[in-house]
Amino acid sequence: MKLTDKIYIAGHRGMVGGAIKRKLISLGYQNLLLRTSAELDLRNQQAVNEFFAAEKPDYVFLAAAKVGGIHANNTYRADFLYDNLVIAANIIHAAYVNQVTKLMFLGSSCIYPRMAPQPITESSLLTGPLEATNEPYAIAKIAGIKLCEAYRQQYGCNFISVMPTNLYGIGDNYHPENSHVLPALIRRFHEARTNRQPSVTVWGTGTPKREFLFADDLADACVYLMHHYDGEELVNIGTGEDLSIRELAETVKEVVNYEGDIIFDSSKPDGTPRKLMDVSKLHALGWQHSMDLRTGIHMAYSDFVKKQFSMIN
Ligand code: GDP
Repeated sequence: MKLTDKIYIAGHRGMVGGAIKRKLISLGYQNLLLRTSAELDLRNQQAVNEFFAAEKPDYVFLAAAKVGGIHANNTYRADFLYDNLVIAANIIHAAYVNQVTKLMFLGSSCIYPRMAPQPITESSLLTGPLEATNEPYAIAKIAGIKLCEAYRQQYGCNFISVMPTNLYGIGDNYHPENSHVLPALIRRFHEARTNRQPSVTVWGTGTPKREFLFADDLADACVYLMHHYDGEELVNIGTGEDLSIRELAETVKEVVNYEGDIIFDSSKPDGTPRKLMDVSKLHALGWQHSMDLRTGIHMAYSDFVKKQFSMIN
């Protein structure tokens, strides 16, 4: 990937695409191809075909997706399946037709079986049933992986797939119900402190374990793998370290400086009991994360406060 190559980032307004954009700009890439969803609806096959035919990108980062936390995945099941399937199919096919040099498809750790042995290796894909709360999203992402694999096998396309763990960072979604756990807790603890509430409610039992990667670290890994990986097999991207939701809540509470209690609402779903990536392949390829969780939460929290402030003023 040369600094003058035309690089399309699908989903550059999202947290992940935005981080990839920042990374590429910081490295001196000059020819980024960007479209908002209003300019180009990626669910519209004809529009996607016309865009690729007109622009002929050299490289594609496929970071566009309909995403959300456990509640959103479980509630908008049709949208999560349909939108993500169609986005992946449209872009991957158009990349093949228009001879894109290389495409990277971003999946998710929820593609792996619910009871996959931990830490989860890439080879556990399709070895068991999925977690029910995010099955539609996972099926769409598995279809994307299989599209990359099949276009590589049948047509020789250099399409690679990477599987990020749970992500957080700058430009995250802080919706009270539809976001992922980390932004949800940042917002809830912040509001509880501001409103002097005696306690904060955290969903589930607090016992599930999750791994968290800062989005800018993910972007760094994606650019690294675009340069250094051409294989058919997936590559997990994570830190290789996890913690319980209880420990996470305690950490967010400290970062936000909230002094009340934490209450667990076990009527809400826990989801997968544990989701820790095996990152030995990534490490063997020569990449490791750099942001530690507490510093990353501090940065995400500052970004959240800045946005709150800019909304008020
Ligand atoms: P998941 O990794 O696909 O399950 O996605 P989430 O980030 O939505 O949830 C991770 C875990 O955090 C689950 O066990 C949730 O029950 C728990 N959790 C606790 N409080 C919250 C919350 O306010 N929002 C979300 N999304 N999850 C929460």
